[in-house]
Amino acid sequence: MIGFLKLLSRNRLSLAGLVVIIAVIFVALVTPLLPLPDPDVIDTKNRFKTPFNTDAILGTDHLGRDLMSRLLWGTRLSLAVGFCAAFLAALIGSSIGIISGFYGKHVDNILMRGIDMLMAFPYILLALAIVAALGPGLFNALIAVAIVNIPFFARNIRGVTVGITHKEFIDAARLSGMTDTRIIITEVLPNVFPVIVIAMSTTVGWMILETAGLSFLGLGSQPPQADLGSMLGEARAALITSPYTSVVPGAMILIIVMAINLLGDGIRDALDPRLKSGVLSSPRPRTLVADYSKTKNLDASELLSVSNLKTQFHIGNRNYKAVDGVSIYAKKGACLGIIGESGSGKSVTALSIMGLVSSPPGIITEGYVNYKGIDLIQTNDQKLRSLRGGKISYIFQDPLSSLHPLYTVQQQLEEAILAHQNLSKEEVYQKCIELLKSVRIPNPKQRAKDYPHQLSGGMRQRVSIAMALANDPEVIIADEPTTALDVTVQAQILSLLRELTSQRGLAIIFITHDFGVVSQICDEVAVMYAGKIVEYGPSEMILNHPAHPYTSKLMGCVPEIGKGKRKLASIDGLPPMVDKLDQGCAFAPRCQSTISECLTNDIKLRDVNRNMKVRCIKPETHL
Ligand code: ADP
Ligand code: MG
Repeated sequence: MIGFLKLLSRNRLSLAGLVVIIAVIFVALVTPLLPLPDPDVIDTKNRFKTPFNTDAILGTDHLGRDLMSRLLWGTRLSLAVGFCAAFLAALIGSSIGIISGFYGKHVDNILMRGIDMLMAFPYILLALAIVAALGPGLFNALIAVAIVNIPFFARNIRGVTVGITHKEFIDAARLSGMTDTRIIITEVLPNVFPVIVIAMSTTVGWMILETAGLSFLGLGSQPPQADLGSMLGEARAALITSPYTSVVPGAMILIIVMAINLLGDGIRDALDPRLKSGVLSSPRPRTLVADYSKTKNLDASELLSVSNLKTQFHIGNRNYKAVDGVSIYAKKGACLGIIGESGSGKSVTALSIMGLVSSPPGIITEGYVNYKGIDLIQTNDQKLRSLRGGKISYIFQDPLSSLHPLYTVQQQLEEAILAHQNLSKEEVYQKCIELLKSVRIPNPKQRAKDYPHQLSGGMRQRVSIAMALANDPEVIIADEPTTALDVTVQAQILSLLRELTSQRGLAIIFITHDFGVVSQICDEVAVMYAGKIVEYGPSEMILNHPAHPYTSKLMGCVPEIGKGKRKLASIDGLPPMVDKLDQGCAFAPRCQSTISECLTNDIKLRDVNRNMKVRCIKPETHL
């Protein structure tokens, strides 16, 4: 609750809305205790008294009734009706939504067609028709307003529930033997509840307005009972001669509705977890870059090199140093591996190259990325866009989420080609089939017509690779492209990438957490730990003689065929959080050969020999 209020208070306007609405509710609650005259007593002698002149602070209306008293009693009634209508609509609408989304099929069809029927009528006409059928009166107006708002809740909540019902945790709940009712109450409801609250907070305001509208037309509260709408309705005749009789209830409606809407906005921001982490707040087309001194002369003969790259995530007052001074070099026709445990900063390094780290919270605070003499971090958006998916392309881990589910393979490949090349329809099609052939997809013409879900995992990843090859790239960055695949398919994909590297003279930056994969495909390898490179050199050398204790531990985790029975090693402890790194070596707490210097000194990446670098004062090999 405190956390929620804290989040809410980030939005000043919402906080103001909260204060106002609490004040209004408080006044409405204590109205019966206040020394006010009876709101319904007619006193024709004192008609249309202006405010602040007599006992009646806000003046009197056309029947001489005290406006202050009528306003407070009216507000009380309007608030009560508005909130009740919102609650009723939310309760019934959400129940329909959850049941329809959870059970699907016929249940969904029947319920949703019913809702569609309600939605087929114009909103206010439907409310009028319902009140006309039930007869005028505040209670009937409440029911009418609730009914016309049911579809809004039902539709919204159904959508969310459908998404949740297919999640694994629901299957797990089913497997554990829970009944449907229990699953709905304990698994589905808590997940849709924030959406219900958000929908409610944004609709209470409307409902108060709608009830006021019905009362204004004489269909809601009946004389002499006052609510804000009926007060406005009665004041209509005297709008010119005694405008204050309309202004008083009008201003109250404005204040209440505005306060509720502002508060609703704040609640939505605070409850939506995606908005909370700032991910959706303002997505940028490229990663933010801090202002730092730039290197002017880059070597144009290099294909792609990254120098002293630092990428951080600034969340609240925390500063996560996800990548902290990484330098790597991709060479033509060779594969560079980046290896490390999960969370060591491999993906962030790869994404930083093309400014793909999400900002906020990501920010590049130092370094440069040299692509043939151009600094990709500083270059303009247009240049960067022409390179993305063109000369430098990506392959991601999960092809099911990187391929669009609603387009065929052919459509997606053609889209990728046309983004960078100007070809005729026939040429694009030919190129598309060629690409599918080059990644060894059997029967490419047929497969091109398939949707991603019709292909197996290995086939899908081949399609992703074909997409990455679409514009004859010079560099491919592959972020764990085989992790989601089984071992035999992994071997096929690796040999395919290997072949493409040598045939096309590609440079591949291959991210993995598996030394087995490194040995199959990489010429060089950079080992990352807590955002830093701890060892860098030819993979052959590192595989045979790892110098950093972390590297040798990682290698100990890989099973080897033909080496007899041995216990698979694991590394005790966890990688450190990158927002509060201590001085010294980040691996020291998990290392067996730690000495006191490891904890205090700043340890530099240094040469072990001509080709190999290591960040350790007591490396395990000295070749
Ligand atoms: P991996 O080596 O497994 O690919 P990542 O590069 O994805 O690791 O992540 C490195 C660090 O950056 C992790 O500590 C992770 O929590 C953090 N990180 C990555 N993406 C984000 C993000 N969008 N917001 C905040 N922190 C992030
Ligand atoms: Mg990753």
